[in-house]
Amino acid sequence: MGSYRKAQNTIIMEGQEYLALDHIKKLLHDEDFPRLEGDLAKIPQLRTIHKEVKAIRAFLSSFSLGDFSQPITVRGIIPGYLKTLQSRLLRMLQQIRMVEQGDFSQQIQFMGEFFVAFNDKVSQLDSTFKKLKAKETALTALADSLRNEVNSRNSAVEALRESESQLKYLASHDPLTGALNRRSFMDRAAIELADAMKHNRSCGIAMMDIDLFKHFNDTYGHQAGDDALRHIVTLISSILRKNDFLGRYGGEEFILYFSQVDRAACIAVAERVRKAIVQEPVRLKSGPVSISASFGVAMFQDDEGSVERYDLETGIHHADIALYQAKKGGRNKVVCFSKEMKPVSNSG
Ligand code: GH3
Ligand code: MG
Ligand code: MG
Repeated sequence: MGSYRKAQNTIIMEGQEYLALDHIKKLLHDEDFPRLEGDLAKIPQLRTIHKEVKAIRAFLSSFSLGDFSQPITVRGIIPGYLKTLQSRLLRMLQQIRMVEQGDFSQQIQFMGEFFVAFNDKVSQLDSTFKKLKAKETALTALADSLRNEVNSRNSAVEALRESESQLKYLASHDPLTGALNRRSFMDRAAIELADAMKHNRSCGIAMMDIDLFKHFNDTYGHQAGDDALRHIVTLISSILRKNDFLGRYGGEEFILYFSQVDRAACIAVAERVRKAIVQEPVRLKSGPVSISASFGVAMFQDDEGSVERYDLETGIHHADIALYQAKKGGRNKVVCFSKEMKPVSNSG
């Protein structure tokens, strides 16, 4: 054993004990890790302390740099505490990551007050998150019901549009035959005629009346008469050119508008319709029955040597006169109006 000397309140040891303590002091204080050599290396307790402090220093060094993953290789009370601290920090890190990923149920029971604020914030986040979720659910339900509302409104609008176009159709068409009714025929004809006159295009009309239709009804019944009217409209519609059109003028009387035709062409088209009616009998349950019709044709621009033009009403009046001539001449005929038939008023 060495000797002691007292100087200025400091006990200074001499000999091996002093060197051992000095080594321990270096282990604890020096930045550079001291080497254990010579006689000191022969002291087993000092070797143990040296080894343990070395391991603890290595562990704490990486710990201080934020690396909590290094294993601590020695046993003892201090390494034990450090291991507990390490595992708690690792658990805390894991919990923080879980919070980061949206699991706000995490509460960190470590380091006391230091984490109270953190836990409060996490609790707040948790309740905010739950409220947002509830709002999201409510909004989704609202969006769903709005979508349903919009869909049902769209269907209602669609149905209205449908019924509006049905109403328009019903207002402008004859319900029995589907031909334009008199009023909408007159409207369309007036527009077409004005356009034709503006561009100096010749056009004409034909009044058509089914021959002896009363007799047809009396013989085959009113229902068969209706079938015949439908049959005739279908037939004529299939013959007419794109810009020509047909209307039901009333009863068994129809009116046809022929665009871009001179007198000869107008008579030819009416002839074609007349022949088709004769050639295509009405197919009744009891068998086919032939029918015929008479036609009175009139032009809107007189080409019999003058340049007179007639309005729609006058044209129809002329066609009526010609139709009367066709009936008088034996029916199943096309007669074109001419001024000799009867003096007519024209409105230019
Ligand atoms: P004409 O050759 O001189 O024209 O003889 P008509 O028998 O055709 O002429 P009339 O004016 O004497 O008779 C027309 C007939 O047309 C009488 C009427 O019952 C019939 N009629 C008119 N509209 C309809 C209808 O919608 N359905 C049916 N089935 N018959 C109709
Ligand atoms: Mg008639
Ligand atoms: Mg008739």
